[in-house]
Amino acid sequence: MSSLKEQTSPKVGFISLGCPKALVDSEQILTQLRAEGYEISSSYELADLVVVNTCGFIDSAVTESLDAIGEALAENGKVIVTGCLGAKEDGNVIKKAHPQVLAVTGPHALPEVMSAIHTHLPQPHDPFTSLIPPQGIRLTPKHYAYVKISEGCNHRCTFCIIPSMRGDLVSRPIHQVMQEAENLANAGVKELLIISQDTSAYGVDIKYRTGFWQGRPVKTRLTELASALGELDVWVRLHYVYPYPHVDEIIPLMAEGRILPYLDVPLQHANPRILKAMKRPANAENNLSRIQQWRQICPDITLRSTFIVGFPGETEAEFEELLQFLQAAQLDRVGCFKYSPVEGATANMLPDPVPEAIKEERYERFMKVQEAISRQRLADKVGRTITVMVDHVEEDQVIARSSADAPEIDGLVYVNAPPHGLKPGDFLQVEITDSDAHDLYTSISKQ
Ligand code: SF4
Repeated sequence: MSSLKEQTSPKVGFISLGCPKALVDSEQILTQLRAEGYEISSSYELADLVVVNTCGFIDSAVTESLDAIGEALAENGKVIVTGCLGAKEDGNVIKKAHPQVLAVTGPHALPEVMSAIHTHLPQPHDPFTSLIPPQGIRLTPKHYAYVKISEGCNHRCTFCIIPSMRGDLVSRPIHQVMQEAENLANAGVKELLIISQDTSAYGVDIKYRTGFWQGRPVKTRLTELASALGELDVWVRLHYVYPYPHVDEIIPLMAEGRILPYLDVPLQHANPRILKAMKRPANAENNLSRIQQWRQICPDITLRSTFIVGFPGETEAEFEELLQFLQAAQLDRVGCFKYSPVEGATANMLPDPVPEAIKEERYERFMKVQEAISRQRLADKVGRTITVMVDHVEEDQVIARSSADAPEIDGLVYVNAPPHGLKPGDFLQVEITDSDAHDLYTSISKQ
């Protein structure tokens, strides 16, 4: 790189070909570049990277675009391609002709182009000009962070008013989610908690559109997202995953240790009639066999779920069915809510509301069954050595969490007589010496 480049902000060269629509795309990219502090270079030599906005309308335009890419590669070497030709054959027309290009996007792809530029020519964070760190402002402790991948929900569960407040599902583009996750990992975050209203539905609204991360195509879809997050070398924990069929694809990633073997699946009930009255997505019939299959693929998987008792019309027999499901499913972590009529929820109109006293009684019975299951499942772990992440350091003990424990909602791991100098986010190998209904008691592993 020449000394001229070293003295200035990162410089981007830009070649804009094609029709006025492509021109507007170019203007938007250039505007964004300037807004972020990049300089625009008029020469290949002074640019740190070149963007070529292509046209693919007729043969001569294709040739002109491919020639322009070839010239930029020869003169500069670092080239990102966008525009109509980029959309042809999923970018393969360009990749076949010029495999050295860093990234290819279709037209009207400002976020993807900016993401590719951020990857290959990062804008250094300047504490004098930017008051916001690259990972943004966070309210969580420094070692873990929530990443919201979508907003809203396409379902209409009768007990819920979220869709009326937040609207239908809107997925964040994958490059944006991955950039945020990468920034967090680079800032020292050790655990990413993936959240949304309906994590399994990620990308449905944008037809699983292909985005770009680190110069390669990645679909806006849960499996691809989980796989990409698994490359960041941090704990990745998935929440609010409805048991749609494609969730089965995630389990091998857990078995391979790429993401945490932890799945938060809100099942809400086990009786088909109640689930229908709730209008729950995904059908309950085969949930049990799915859970068994998941455990076969990933024996260490921790399953968390939430349920509602006392839903309007729930009979004693239907509630009993729920208890039998709990016994059969042997879930690790379970939350239970007594049905309460949220203003505006359509379930309020259903007949046969369950009296408060019965709701309370069912809640107690439910919790008793689950507490025994939870106690036994934790007792079965005694003697094992596990990896935990430090949350709090106290004088003579450390409070940590294992892969089975999401912050705030699951159990804790108490580490007895820890070594000095530990800090939140550190990992430890501990041996489990005791357990109760929710937590584990451990000491530092001698292995
Ligand atoms: S409960 Fe969840 S899936 Fe159902 S409508 Fe509300 S947000 Fe959507």
